[in-house]
Amino acid sequence: MSDSLAPESPTVRAFDATVTRVDGRSVTLDETYFYPEGGGQPADRGVLGGVDVEHVRTNADGAVVHDLASDPDVGVGDEVTGVVDDDFRTYCMRAHTASHVLYGAGRRIFDDLGYGGFDISPEKVRVDFETSTEVDDDALVELERLVNRAVWDSREVSWEEISVAEARDREEIAFNVKTEEGVFAESETVRVVSIDGWDWAACGGTHVSDTVEIGPVEVLGRSNPGEGLTRVEFAVGPSAIDRRAAVRTSAYEAARALGTNLDGLGESAAGTAAAREELESELVDLKSEVLRSRLADFETVERDGLTWNVGVVSGFDANEVGEAAKEARDGADVDVFVAVGESDAPFVVVASTGDAAAGEVVAEVTDEFGGGGGGGPMFAQGGGLGAPADEVLAYVRD
Ligand SMILES: [Zn+2]
Repeated sequence: MSDSLAPESPTVRAFDATVTRVDGRSVTLDETYFYPEGGGQPADRGVLGGVDVEHVRTNADGAVVHDLASDPDVGVGDEVTGVVDDDFRTYCMRAHTASHVLYGAGRRIFDDLGYGGFDISPEKVRVDFETSTEVDDDALVELERLVNRAVWDSREVSWEEISVAEARDREEIAFNVKTEEGVFAESETVRVVSIDGWDWAACGGTHVSDTVEIGPVEVLGRSNPGEGLTRVEFAVGPSAIDRRAAVRTSAYEAARALGTNLDGLGESAAGTAAAREELESELVDLKSEVLRSRLADFETVERDGLTWNVGVVSGFDANEVGEAAKEARDGADVDVFVAVGESDAPFVVVASTGDAAAGEVVAEVTDEFGGGGGGGPMFAQGGGLGAPADEVLAYVRD
């Protein structure tokens, strides 16, 4: 039984080892270069003794267990060959090291910073920062710029075991407080991964030995998984390259639509949004002006000794007409103001000085034509009338 040799020797992809235990499809070796799932890094894939490895884990005794896809053809004491899947391990090493580089970038732009955990999936990586700094769009852009710059700068990545006491004394070393608190006795050692001049973290994963191996890094977005935590997701490798192409395609599309280039895109989009807002408010003003002038042209009729203004409007909804009708009632020398709205289901709006109750007028109309509605003596409205607006108007007029 032993720890995985993968963190110490992450470039080893094939090895021979002796079987120490077989339990169904689960095999334990005297030593292994397979990485067991842990610390946010997924288990290696690969082949052991000719059989696919489905999962690699550390059991309760601390032994690395290889769970195979089918029964192994080996017994205790046999020598077997293990082959670690190169593509997936390489991806994990690059993605994992990128998370350290990202954390190092966070050190440079956040006021206060703690390590809140990380996780690698086949498509993306997330890092949780403990910080009170608001990670806005500009901060994301700066993180991505600093990370890719640190990759380009080709910084050496190294790892060493030091005592926990020494690690605690070195303030620059980031600990994953959630998973590692209470795990270490002060007499134990801890593995510290250093990126030259950039980042230092207690970590048991597999890493590349030079940041330049990471390749392009693309920040995908941010979220807030909990109080005081900011989660930043990013991609490396092919998914980073694809994402970059997709973002660029969108930017070109937007620039074409706005008749500008990428450099002028932000300014042009902001200008377009402001112009649209201004036009919308002009449109609202013009519509209410049109509605007011329609209502001003309503026919005046005498009914039961009161003066009524009645008419049909189209192109406006009941609420717009209602507001305009109240305004017209207040401004005109009439007792009752009735507007019938032309639409798929005609509506009626009644504003009254109170001498003829608006609610009763609406009730008469809905009794005659169906639909529903109601209101008080000063204002009422009804909708869903089962007759054309002209017919409703004729009924009200007479
Ligand atoms: Zn690490």
